[in-house]
Amino acid sequence: MTEVKYIFVTGGVTSSLGKGIISASLAKLLQARGYSVTIQKLDPYINVDPGTLNPYEHGECYVTSDGAETDLDLGHYERFLNVPTSQANNVTTGRIYQSVINKERRGDYLGKTVQVIPHITDEIKRSIKLVGSGGKFEIVITEIGGTVGDIESLPYIEAVRQLRWELGPHNCIVIHLTLVPFLHASGELKTKPTQHSVKMLLEEGIQPDVLVLRTEHSLTEDVRRKVALFCNVEAGAVVESIDVSTIYEVPVRMQQEMLDLTVLRKLGLSPGHDPALDEWKEFLYKLKNPVHSVNIALVGKYVELADAYKSISEAFIHAGAANETAVNLTFIHSEEIDEENYREKLAGYDGIVVAPGFGSRGIEGKILTVNHARTNDIPFFGICLGMQCAVIEYARNVMGLDGAHSTEINPKAKHPVIDLMEEQKSVTEKGGTMRLGSYNCEILHGSESWKCYRKEEVTERHRHRYEFNNKYLADFRNAGMLPCGTNPQSGLVEIVEIPSHRWFVGVQFHPEYSSTVLRPHPLFVGFVKACIKK
Ligand code: GLN
Repeated sequence: MTEVKYIFVTGGVTSSLGKGIISASLAKLLQARGYSVTIQKLDPYINVDPGTLNPYEHGECYVTSDGAETDLDLGHYERFLNVPTSQANNVTTGRIYQSVINKERRGDYLGKTVQVIPHITDEIKRSIKLVGSGGKFEIVITEIGGTVGDIESLPYIEAVRQLRWELGPHNCIVIHLTLVPFLHASGELKTKPTQHSVKMLLEEGIQPDVLVLRTEHSLTEDVRRKVALFCNVEAGAVVESIDVSTIYEVPVRMQQEMLDLTVLRKLGLSPGHDPALDEWKEFLYKLKNPVHSVNIALVGKYVELADAYKSISEAFIHAGAANETAVNLTFIHSEEIDEENYREKLAGYDGIVVAPGFGSRGIEGKILTVNHARTNDIPFFGICLGMQCAVIEYARNVMGLDGAHSTEINPKAKHPVIDLMEEQKSVTEKGGTMRLGSYNCEILHGSESWKCYRKEEVTERHRHRYEFNNKYLADFRNAGMLPCGTNPQSGLVEIVEIPSHRWFVGVQFHPEYSSTVLRPHPLFVGFVKACIKK
């Protein structure tokens, strides 16, 4: 078996520089050169996974097909690479400690004192090597969350230092991402923060091999040379990452900067074939040259932080490009929608989405939103909680079931049209206990969803505890809301539609997680198409 090569991506100066996008872009280029690549994210926080985090903390929780609740960067990895990730691709400090403590309880350490070094660092190294061990990948890119110098990322940096020493510089390189600020007063790009950040990394025992500099202005030769000299890297290994209008342009920019070739050379690998980016560039062209445009309202309760709906926004970018359409997405807070203002707040949109979510806050605003879309024949797409709201709205306003609700919101609802799943009734712990990951869905031939997928059976990812209450199945069907997607094993309703409506689809699953640049999700594509027609 060929030896696996490791690339580590660290960040300095500030957070939010886009390590995830740089990692995904580099992976894309290496993949386009014929290498099998995967990306892993190490998160320094103590939660075992981000599943229990409020979306305001770290943005959306991304769900992999094997049911792991992970960091949203994994979404970028999948959207760029078109290759599924799994639990092993996201490790947190909480998970590392959990596993070390479990070993200690089992007596695996044979009476030794358990310490950060070597036990925690060994566990980190084990997690890194685990991704590369299956023989599926030639290159593993590991992104270290946080910023160099943070107390909590120290064990990760130490693990990287040790791995470099163990595997040798040809098998393991470090890319450090920093910021080069532009001072308007003096009209200059400043390299000192980068120099300090590299010094910090050096103090922790790591000499970076490549520097990627985030900047608002093009780097001059002088700046590049200065950074190379003072940070002790080759001139060719100083890479500019200038602000661009879309993240999907970053791979093309990184190719121009020859990041892929520099990395391959340092790893002692051949350049492979010329990167096949034709489809990618075609997507970019369509994205930048739309023929139509649609205005879509997304109603949810985490709208203050756009990252909370990252995968949905990205899925609309993919579906927009597929339709040569600019999708203007407006986030509307469901708590701000009430009986008095909903017509005005929702006026003028070509389509309406009710977003996933948890708990009662803003729920009536979401139900009113569904009502508005349904009664005005506006294309409607309800995702997870959005689908549940559509069911509640239909029960109350079409079927006359007063007091219809989800038992998540009202456990004593007179008509519990959405109810806790049977297997959830005995669950007491919050972390990792929802119905998570991929399940099959059988689709009714001829339904709107079928017209999108052109398939009778699909697999989609999930993250929920409540479901359509099948006691009401016949009533809904008779009243004109069609359950047209079901899980064949459990009978759980996965999709509802209103056939008399222009385009009204509610899905219990999360189609947004599996939309990628090269494989835009059929339901998003179909929904955008319906919005254009309107
Ligand atoms: N809160 C709902 C449930 O648990 C919906 C979840 C979601 O939208 N992801 O079933």
